Amino acid sequence: MEKKELKIDYHVYRKTYPEKYGDLCRKVFEVIPHAYSVYSGFSVGAALLLDNGVVVTGTNQENAAYPSGICAERTALFYAGSRYPEARVEALAIAAFDKGVQPEHFVAPCGACRQVMAETIKRTGDFDVIMLGGEETVMLKASALLPFVFDLL
Ligand SMILES: [Zn+2]
Repeated sequence: MEKKELKIDYHVYRKTYPEKYGDLCRKVFEVIPHAYSVYSGFSVGAALLLDNGVVVTGTNQENAAYPSGICAERTALFYAGSRYPEARVEALAIAAFDKGVQPEHFVAPCGACRQVMAETIKRTGDFDVIMLGGEETVMLKASALLPFVFDLL
């Protein structure tokens, strides 16, 4: 038996954003009101920066049949893959409001979104993820969010 260790590098920002992604982070807050979160009251916004300069946004879209809804991250990632299949994702910024209030701590993507992010990495390469919180924002590589990814190819 061999014991191994997994290390994750990430950057923490207190009450500020990574400077190079300032516009992208502000875009997230613009789209959060477009979330359809009538059941949970948890509104999430996502903004993707593509290497062609396009910013693709998404919000969570809930449904009375809960599994039919979709997260903000996957809304944006699937749209980007559909509309700009050749574009490389450079960064994904995410923020949430819980019943109208931004949590102090950043919100991290769910497991399903991490799996979709892993597929995006496979398609176009690794990218930065910025998880925005009211007090604390964290930036790390997407690959760090799901190190033991399910992969068939
Ligand atoms: Zn998700």
